[in-house]
This record gives sequence, structure tokens and C-alpha cells, in this order.
Amino acid sequence: MRIAKYFSVPLALTIFLSGCGNDEDNTIENGNEPEMNEELTDENEENNLNSNENLNEDINETNDNNQENQNNESINENNENSNMENEETALEDQEPLYEIDSNIAIRPIDDADEEIVLLTIDDAPDNYGPEMAQILKDLDAGAIFFVNGHFIQSEEGQEQLKEIHELGFEIGNHTMTHPNLSNISEEEQYEEIVHLNDLIEEIIGERPRFFRAPFGVNTDYSKELMEDEGMQWMNWSYGYDWEAGYMEKEALEEIMVEAPALGNGANLLMHDREFTKDALEGIVEGLREKGYEIVDPNLIK
Ligand SMILES: [Zn+2]
Repeated sequence: MRIAKYFSVPLALTIFLSGCGNDEDNTIENGNEPEMNEELTDENEENNLNSNENLNEDINETNDNNQENQNNESINENNENSNMENEETALEDQEPLYEIDSNIAIRPIDDADEEIVLLTIDDAPDNYGPEMAQILKDLDAGAIFFVNGHFIQSEEGQEQLKEIHELGFEIGNHTMTHPNLSNISEEEQYEEIVHLNDLIEEIIGERPRFFRAPFGVNTDYSKELMEDEGMQWMNWSYGYDWEAGYMEKEALEEIMVEAPALGNGANLLMHDREFTKDALEGIVEGLREKGYEIVDPNLIK
């Protein structure tokens, strides 16, 4: 019954019909990248001048509280899963070793290994999310799956989300219907972000800690929401699985490992797609051959 209210989000179905993760989406994401990076540099300076540290502290406190409440609830609800929950609790209680620099790169807080990269899978769980999660799990590689609400309205989608989460992956918020946030009202942005947090929490028992805006477009209001919700937003260093020429296994495997933007702390963007699934193992192995380890998102503040 609680889920029914999300169908009443007026823009949900119309925007859903316009699709997500198609060629148009890819072109826009790609086209936005250079502009986005400039904007981020300005914002970073602004954040440093203002209260980035205080904000991070607030976020930590909120996260700690949320995690405690959620863990208690989970343990009460699922006695049979208590071993698994305890393991998760142990991981989540670990001090963060990394933080997000300029809303993109992953940097060590103290002396953690800096030769790491973050894997992120957007527009999930579409068709291949659980399979991608299983492949990564078998490779012992962590990742954030950034989820859209229109994929988790059905029971099947909700099962897929649970499966990805139960395999140990971080679930991020990628909005309810994948709009460009700069084209919609504040009320609609609230629905897109906060209602998806509510829905994800109903399904997996935890609210997302991380947010990635569709097309990398954030607004002043969405950034305010991040503070209110105790979330951290991130864009990405590079990604290719939406570009012509890289929408197949071999080319994608190669470019993701040879990309000019690959470096310590790089934030790698991929999508829930068949050829990306097929390329995952080669990408992870190639990155490791180059000396990079795949960071566990649980260790990111
Ligand atoms: Zn997307």
C-alpha cells in the first residue's frame, strides 16, 4: 500500500516513457562532461571557503545514527539473517578510509592505499544488475549501483534491488525517473530524490548515502537536499559505455583500462547494460594489472 503512492508522482510515468540510458541520454551525459568539470572546480573552491568540514561531520553523524537504527531494525526483523547482518554491521562500523574530493575522485583520508578506483553502475537495476553484482562479487570488487525509481516499481525490480544489496553492494540514488534536475521544479526534485530514498528504504531497509544526478546536472536545491538528507553527491571521472564504438565488450574493456583519465581515485561510470556486464571481468582484471585496487564503497565517508 505504501508503494502505491509513488505511482501518484505526476511526472513519474511521463518521464519514464521518455526513457533512460538510451543514445540520447548518452550524448547528453557525454556532452555535459567538460562543462560539468569546470563548474565543479568553482564549487569546490566555494565549498572549501564555506563549511565543507562541518558538513562532512554532520553527514557522518547522520549516517552513524541511520546505520544504528537500520541495523537494529534489520536484526529484529530477520533473525535468520542475523549472521549476515552482523557481518554488515562490522563493515559499516569501520572508520571511513576515503572521502570524495571535488564530488568526483576518491581520496585517502590518512594513509590508506591511494592507488584505488571506484566502480559505479548507473541506471540500475534494469536487466543485468543482479548478474553484474554477482560477477563483481566473484571478483571481490565493490561498486555502487545507482538506482532509478522506475526500475523498482515492479515486484521483479524490487527483488533485483534486494539481490544486489544482499550481495553486499552499496545502493545509490539516481532519481525516480531520470530527469534533468535543472528542468523541473523544486517540488519535483524533492519527489525525485527524497521519495526514491523512501522507496529504497522500504525495500532494503537502508536509505542511500550517495546521489548521482542524471547527466551530472545538480542544482542549488538538489545540493540543499543532499545536506538535509545527509547524502553525498558525486559525478564521475570517465565512462564510455554510451559512446559509439565502445558499446561492445572488447572495445569497452580496453578503453576503461587505457583511458587518459585513469589515475588514483578515479570514479568510473558504467551502466546496467549487457555489453558492460560482459566487459566487467576484463575491466576489473585490467585495472588490477595496472596496479589499481577496486575500493569498497563502505570505506568511503
Ligand atoms: Zn543515468
